[in-house]
Amino acid sequence: APLISLVVPAYCEEESLAPLYGEVSQVMTSLEVAWEMIVIDDGSTDGTWQQIRDLHQADQRVKGLRLSRNFGHQYALLAGLANATGRAVITMDADLQHPPEVIVRLLEQWREGRQIVHTVRTDHRNLSILKKITSRIFYKIFSSLSGVKLSAGMADFRLLDRQVVDDLVGFREGGLFLRGLVQWAGYSSSKVVFESRERFAGKTKYNLTQMLKFAWAGI
Ligand code: UDP
Ligand code: MG
Repeated sequence: APLISLVVPAYCEEESLAPLYGEVSQVMTSLEVAWEMIVIDDGSTDGTWQQIRDLHQADQRVKGLRLSRNFGHQYALLAGLANATGRAVITMDADLQHPPEVIVRLLEQWREGRQIVHTVRTDHRNLSILKKITSRIFYKIFSSLSGVKLSAGMADFRLLDRQVVDDLVGFREGGLFLRGLVQWAGYSSSKVVFESRERFAGKTKYNLTQMLKFAWAGI
């Protein structure tokens, strides 16, 4: 069976990692594929690294990368992509907002020949109005300036074929905005719609200033 890598950036997510691992291993076992889960500790100040070590001790398919400081979500993702060994790589958040059962549909599309499988989240009723509106406006501006079509609700929850991962890792780009690069890179792609869950524990690491910085980096 092909090896599937899951790449999970984690910044102060000590409470979510064990439940995430539990759900992921259940889904992957039902799919009967070989897998690894690479958790990138992005300079956490809580027990995230210890949690990764404990999970690795119990199951060597869990692997950890520890960044020297907090580099931010996008760079944590890149570090994970650069170290993933799978034929397909799935990036997903640590807080369980990206439901592991969606992996089943991502792999289905990959097996049908798609090299990129995006996800689009249906706006969760608990998503703040501010987040909904700012994200719509941003994607409109971004698409019209760059010519790269992105739609609101596209998250960093997606499957990338090995070939695409090798391309992305080769970019060595500053001001990283992966969702734009992935869309720009070409290849055959498709979309899977999912309903995002509530964050399992802790709170969001993206406040308004960080969202604006992220948007600016993208543009
Ligand atoms: N994250 C990270 N580094 C950061 C900020 C966030 O690795 O500096 C991770 C975080 O732990 C989570 C994912 O990126 O797994 C998305 O962050 P978050 O859930 O806070 O964003 P939101 O879902 O609220 O947009
Ligand atoms: Mg989240």
